[in-house]
Amino acid sequence: MSQLQRIAIAPSQFQQGQILLTKEQQHYLVRVLRLREGDRFIAMDGRGKWWLAQLEKEQAQVLEPLTVATELPVSITLIVALPKGNGFDEVVRCCTELGVACIAPVLSDRTLLYPSPQKLERWRRIAAEAAEQSERSFVPTILEPVAFNTGLSSIMSDLSLTNSQKYICVARGDSPHLKDCLQHKQEGTIIVATGPEGGWTAKEIESAIAAGFQPVSLGRRILRAVTAPVVALSLITAACEV
Ligand code: SAH
Repeated sequence: MSQLQRIAIAPSQFQQGQILLTKEQQHYLVRVLRLREGDRFIAMDGRGKWWLAQLEKEQAQVLEPLTVATELPVSITLIVALPKGNGFDEVVRCCTELGVACIAPVLSDRTLLYPSPQKLERWRRIAAEAAEQSERSFVPTILEPVAFNTGLSSIMSDLSLTNSQKYICVARGDSPHLKDCLQHKQEGTIIVATGPEGGWTAKEIESAIAAGFQPVSLGRRILRAVTAPVVALSLITAACEV
């Protein structure tokens, strides 16, 4: 199965056991991947469903649903203060590979970059590509950037997140290490926040604590704003995956 080519499909393209392919998808399958009529491929809807499909002319026949077991047992939401330049592209790509469920870019007091609206589309495309390459069954949700405090308020008002584990990574000070704080649960939601190049302000850390976040360390070295989310995600996956 893993040798088969995979393509992403919108859920609306599935109709009565068929996949109605767009012109671009037909072009991609036939001209780029060089598939011929009767060849099989995998169609993924980005929402957890995979199908084994067989190419016909302008559509594909669904042969059977496939089971994929590449998702983490916990749902991880990453809050990231937008790093400067194109640094966030790398955060989206690597954290998608590591299994993140949702990425919430935030603007903090020391944020240097205010993103253009086209960026969101670009990040979502990167997430879709990375999910496909990592054989994930879900494409992570990338939320629209909001102010850090707005993000905290929506977490506090979301009742489904009341029992989630919440951590804010703080580069200096004597916070306990994230690996020692993680509850080794095989379910639920973990929310982890990492700051910008200049770090969080003391006020932001206080607001996060008031919202139920625990300040944690990722080790004794100061990591770049782009590296910290990747390290946090790696520690969480190591603790939660059995
Ligand atoms: N310029 C700041 C460091 C910012 S590092 C300073 O000198 O203090 C960017 C972000 O990465 C931080 O806000 C924090 O969320 C995270 N980070 C980097 N290194 C970390 C560490 N060792 N422990 C916890 N978080 C870290």
